Amino acid sequence: MKDISKQDIVTLVKLQEAETEIVRLQAVLGKVEKEKTKIALRLKQFEKALYQNREDLARVQIACRDSESEIQIIDDRIIKSNENLRMVKTNKEYQVLLREVDDNKKRKDILETELLEFMDEKEKSESIVSASEKEYALLAEQISHQQAEMGKKCVDDKEALEEYLAQQEDIGESLDSTLMEKFRKISKMNQGLAVTGVDNAVCMGCFMNIPPQLFIEVQRGSSLISCPQCSRILYHVNTD
Ligand SMILES: [Zn+2]
Repeated sequence: MKDISKQDIVTLVKLQEAETEIVRLQAVLGKVEKEKTKIALRLKQFEKALYQNREDLARVQIACRDSESEIQIIDDRIIKSNENLRMVKTNKEYQVLLREVDDNKKRKDILETELLEFMDEKEKSESIVSASEKEYALLAEQISHQQAEMGKKCVDDKEALEEYLAQQEDIGESLDSTLMEKFRKISKMNQGLAVTGVDNAVCMGCFMNIPPQLFIEVQRGSSLISCPQCSRILYHVNTD
């Protein structure tokens, strides 16, 4: 058992107080960061959906254009066939050209029906895109506002964290380096609780009874005592 002074124990308790705050603040700030990432992801997902809607619109726009230009080509063919009709000499030629005109007209009908469907689709697609653009802008604004608010709330916590870290550094200068190392090691193993009081022979870290002989040592406060159960550094809490 390492001999320590009462002052060492006071210092360790202070170190623990700062550590408890540091662990708490880090958890709070970590949670905020996670939340920020989560809402940023939501916007990203929305953006993906918007891109998809824009792609759908572009596809139907191309289909409309293709359909229109094919109709144009067929119109030209019909005009040309009609011109040729006036110059034919035989009945057979006449029949062939007539069938050509007829076939082209049928094809044109099909294309025009298709075009109407495409135009209808395009109109729907345009309104979907415009609605999702508006929604996206709204959501983006909401999210940036939310994140700014979160950032503002974190300012105080970040400042406090810096203070506690500086405080620990100061304390560390007055504490024996092996004690400091031990503190760090135990804190790491116990989610930030390395130094804990003993109340009525009960370790307040793990709530187990400590042996009477050890309790006497803790009350004496002249040596470094660790809880046999949880390894935390123990100090005596005066309850009277
Ligand atoms: Zn314990």
